[in-house]
Amino acid sequence: MRKGVDGVQQWQDGEWMVRSIFGGSATKAYRCPGCMQEIRPGVAHVVAWPADERGDLTDRRHWHTGCWKARDRRAPGVERSRNAPHYG
Ligand SMILES: [Zn+2]
Repeated sequence: MRKGVDGVQQWQDGEWMVRSIFGGSATKAYRCPGCMQEIRPGVAHVVAWPADERGDLTDRRHWHTGCWKARDRRAPGVERSRNAPHYG
């Protein structure tokens, strides 16, 4: 069995559930909180959310795979959500 990225990962700021999204199932564009760049449809990436809130999936964040893996180089707690308007 291969071990993928899916599952609970331990980070400095707690446990995160991580799920990999394959390019074919990525049908929307998302904003990556790691680099604030767009994750374009069709691009494989990861979704992460706090493991202690597994019942509430509204807090899921979509990350570029590389940005997620580089996450521990960033200071924890600096991410902030932004209520950007959605058009279309
Ligand atoms: Zn990114």
